Amino acid sequence: MRKLIHGGTIVNEGQSFSGAIVIEDNRIAAIMPENEPPRSNFDEIIDATGCFVIPGIIDTHVHFREPGMEDKANIESESRAAAYGGVTSFFEMPNTNPQTTTIDALNDKFERAKRSSHINYSFFFGATNANSDTITQLDKHLVPGVKLFMGASTGNMLVDRRSALESIFATAAAEGLPVMTHCEDSGIINENMKKAKALYGDDPDISHHYEIRSEKACRESSQLAVELALKHKTRLHIAHLSTARELDLLQQPPARDFVTMEAVIAHLYFTNDDYAVKRALIKCNPSVKTAHDRAELRRALADGRISTVSTDHAPHLLSQKQGGCACATSGMPWCNSLYRRCWNLSITAF
Ligand SMILES: [Zn+2]
Repeated sequence: MRKLIHGGTIVNEGQSFSGAIVIEDNRIAAIMPENEPPRSNFDEIIDATGCFVIPGIIDTHVHFREPGMEDKANIESESRAAAYGGVTSFFEMPNTNPQTTTIDALNDKFERAKRSSHINYSFFFGATNANSDTITQLDKHLVPGVKLFMGASTGNMLVDRRSALESIFATAAAEGLPVMTHCEDSGIINENMKKAKALYGDDPDISHHYEIRSEKACRESSQLAVELALKHKTRLHIAHLSTARELDLLQQPPARDFVTMEAVIAHLYFTNDDYAVKRALIKCNPSVKTAHDRAELRRALADGRISTVSTDHAPHLLSQKQGGCACATSGMPWCNSLYRRCWNLSITAF
């Protein structure tokens, strides 16, 4: 069985070029520039004109819900969905039940994935207010890093004690492990939610989500994370950046040595205007923000200030995505449609 993929832009190992790929019996037999068209007979020819042809995607931010939330999804179902979307490796987050905050819970996830994952995998270790000692026991060749919720979200793993934050950043730095943060200040969010409930009732309309999980909540939390990273010389990766103002944090010269930033599809794709039609289906934490924020995130992705794109794949039951700011769950599934979304982004944004 010989297959030819031609006409696309091949992206591989730091290069991109127009070219063709010959596949024989499901293995790549040749990669060649477009000006050297292969002369041969093929059983199948795929015209990839207008497309990027890329290796399997590593999705570094997913929630597969196992263990503890298998009514929503599990490692088998979501790794199958990921493979369908072109993802060949995933890093999964610790806000499961039990949370991945002990060595036993971490090992249990690796065992489950060994039995049921269709693709390559690893798991973030979750930080808590009291487990920084356990970070010293992690195998840094096995886990991608420590996930730190500096804001509450699904499966409440908020770390809010200053001494715990200092200890996590210091220990991770000493162990050579990156810290990946969810940055939203819970104090600001709780205050905003209280005000919104006073004005709009117990479950404020979803159109207020971006005012409750506000720009200020993101910026203040990210600022604290950057300060801690610079103080302890910790490798910090800020997850799902959602506001233009947080990009300023990279401008202090030492920050570029320690801090990287991730964008996820929701914030590159939607704005608060989309709540009118999509309602809580696009509710996620941090919230999608304004058209200005989206434009700046896209610009930062194009010029390299944002270094990774992930899905933040976070499935729920459709019945759980009803209601407003207080009642609807946050998160949405993505990795099964990643290729299509990226392609759409490439033509609309760049
Ligand atoms: Zn997430």
